[in-house]
Amino acid sequence: MKYRHSAAQSTEYLRLAIKHMAQHDAGMHPTSYTVWYEYVSGANPALRSELDSLLQRGGRLNDETIDDLHSRHINELDAKTALRIGDSVTQLVSHVSESTAAAGDEATRFGDSLVRWNEELIDPATGNDALSSGVEDILRGTRQMQEAISTLKTRLAESVRETEHLRQEVARAREEALIDGLTGLVNRKGFDLALAACLAELQAESIGPCLLMIDLDHFKKINDGQGHVFGDRVLASVGQILRANVKGKDTAARYGGEEFAVVLPNTPRGGAVGLAEALRALVAASQVRRSGDREVLVGNISVSIGVADHVAGESATDLVSRADRALYAAKMQGRNRVVLAPRPAAKTGQ
Ligand code: GH3
Ligand code: MG
Ligand code: MG
Repeated sequence: MKYRHSAAQSTEYLRLAIKHMAQHDAGMHPTSYTVWYEYVSGANPALRSELDSLLQRGGRLNDETIDDLHSRHINELDAKTALRIGDSVTQLVSHVSESTAAAGDEATRFGDSLVRWNEELIDPATGNDALSSGVEDILRGTRQMQEAISTLKTRLAESVRETEHLRQEVARAREEALIDGLTGLVNRKGFDLALAACLAELQAESIGPCLLMIDLDHFKKINDGQGHVFGDRVLASVGQILRANVKGKDTAARYGGEEFAVVLPNTPRGGAVGLAEALRALVAASQVRRSGDREVLVGNISVSIGVADHVAGESATDLVSRADRALYAAKMQGRNRVVLAPRPAAKTGQ
């Protein structure tokens, strides 16, 4: 069990957590409760330190912030812990394996010495000796010991293979949990992690990241006119265009529904606008087959893109909001276009 607190202790944490929850805008739901429970019980130092600095800055925490904290400090921690435990078990089993192999070698050496000693003890006249029969008993015991060690070695080798397999499964499950099934891009959670990691690695002197928020134009019409199955094909095809053109340290994600996002670490705004324009043009030039090979190709698919370049000290949420506003402006200006977000007034010139 994850929480090992007594009834009295956990009741006190419940009281404290409710007190905190009541002071913020996020709902009183289990996600919120878990965050505050881990905070007040001191069970999660990283979460506590981030929450402390958020609280120091004042303001009220909303559902989005609580969700973000939960996803980075609680969900993600569980996956990481599982991987760490897997690694420790693999290491432990392979250490035991090495010790067993060494014990096996020792037993073999001991057995060989006994055989030599036994041969020397046999009386050449009678071919037998009381001492020699005692040694044979020990020899038999040694052979049994060697067999036991050899069985143990085989079983340990199986365990090593099994733990390695389990470790890979945990890693795969974790990766799968971050992938969107329809497009093969990372999902919203993968996007949140990529953007958070990118901001956490930011150094004072380096160029900040840029963010592209991409939304399909009039997608409802495509769904209504051609059906949802075709709509899904269009989403998969846009995903394919992003996958083929966003590589290396950059991350393309399906943000949700018919919205995509691209994180471009260490990228000047000009480069980001150039990529956004190239992606827009590729989508506009693309055609998607309705179904089967022979049916009609449908064109007129387009996206609007909002681009924002990170300004020093800006939070992930604020960066996303700015890119979102630029996306909205692109829609208002007629769609199938790229709009660069203005930098926040107070922080321009950085
Ligand atoms: P706009 O140009 O303003 O973005 O118009 P829109 O029609 O694209 O925007 P709106 O938000 O009105 O509609 C988005 C549509 O996307 C509605 C929803 O049914 C559809 N959609 C969201 N997720 C999926 C999905 O996974 N598959 C399919 N086929 N459709 C989806
Ligand atoms: Mg939309
Ligand atoms: Mg849309």
